[in-house]
Amino acid sequence: MRIIVCAKQVPDTNEVRIDPVKGTLIRDGVPSILNPDDANALEAALTVKDANPGSTVSVISMGPPQAAYMLRECLAMGADDVYLLSSRAFGGADTCATSTTIAAGIRKLGKFDIIFAGRQAIDGDTAQVGPQIAQRLGIPVVTYVMKVRELKEGSVIVERQLEDGFEVIEVSTPCMLTAVKELNTPRYMTISGIEDAYKKTITVWNENDVALRPESCGLKASPTQVFRSFTPPPKGKGEMLSGSVPEMAAQLVQKLTEKHAL
Ligand SMILES: Cc1cc2nc3c(=O)[nH]c(=O)nc-3n(C[C@H](O)[C@H](O)[C@H](O)COP(=O)(O)OP(=O)(O)OC[C@H]3O[C@@H](n4cnc5c(N)ncnc54)[C@H](O)[C@@H]3O)c2cc1C
Repeated sequence: MRIIVCAKQVPDTNEVRIDPVKGTLIRDGVPSILNPDDANALEAALTVKDANPGSTVSVISMGPPQAAYMLRECLAMGADDVYLLSSRAFGGADTCATSTTIAAGIRKLGKFDIIFAGRQAIDGDTAQVGPQIAQRLGIPVVTYVMKVRELKEGSVIVERQLEDGFEVIEVSTPCMLTAVKELNTPRYMTISGIEDAYKKTITVWNENDVALRPESCGLKASPTQVFRSFTPPPKGKGEMLSGSVPEMAAQLVQKLTEKHAL
C-alpha cells in the first residue's frame, strides 16, 4: 500500500498572538512543531505500514524552507520519503490555494491508497484543508477518524467521532481520512531513525515542479479576504460563591436573575 500523510509545521502554542497593527500572526520567538493532529495522522499511516509489509509512507507539506526540520522528524518517526512544497509563489495562501498546491503535489506523487491528514491545524484551525484536497483529487473523505478498524481490498472501515459516540463507515480507496487525537498515541523518534533521517533527502518542489501556474497558487489564488484580526479582550475576573450547595445555588439564581439571564 502507498500511504500519504499531509503534515503542517505550526507554532508551538495554543495562544496565537496577533500583531494589533498588521493583523497578522506573530510567529517570531515561537518554536515550531509538527501539528499535533498530523502526528496522529503519521502514526496511523505507520501503523498501517507496520501491519502491511511492503507498504510505504510519504509525507508532504507546504511551507517555508524551515518546515524541513519538521519533515526530518517525520522521517525519524519512520516515514520513507518526504516532500516540501516551497516557493515564494505559495506565500499568502488561504486554505483554497493551500489545498490546490498540496493536491498538485500529491498528483505528482502518483498512485496511492490512503491519504491521512490531521483534522485541523492548531494555528489556522479551519479543518478545511483535508476535505478540500479530497475534493480536488475527486476522492471520498472521512473526517474525525478515531479508529481504523479494518483494511480490505479496495476499502477501509473506520470509526468517525461524533459528539456523543461514533459512526462506522466503510469507504472505498483511494480516500482521505482526517485524524483526531483519539486515533492513537504518536510514537517517539528512535535514535537510529534520527540518524537515518539526516541521511535522507528532502525533495523540494516549486510551482513548476507540480505543474501550477504562479497565478494558481499563493495569495493570487486566495479568494479569502481578511478584513480584521484581533485578540478578544480577556474576560473579567470570575467570582467564587461560598456556602452550602443550596446557598450557592440560591446566590447563583439571584445573580442570573439580576442580569436578566433567567
Ligand atoms: C488571506 C490569507 C493569507 C494567508 N497567508 C498565509 C501565509 O502567508 N503564511 C501562512 O503560513 N499562512 C497563511 N495563511 C493561513 C493559511 O491559509 C492556513 O494556514 C492554511 O491554509 C492551512 O489552513 P489551516 O491552518 O486552517 O489548516 P486546517 O485546514 O485546519 O488543516 C487540516 C489539515 O490539513 C493539512 N494541512 C494544512 N495545511 C497544510 C500544509 N501547509 N502542508 C501540509 N498539510 C497541511 C494538515 O494535515 C492539517 O492537519 C493565510 C490565510 C489567509 C486567509
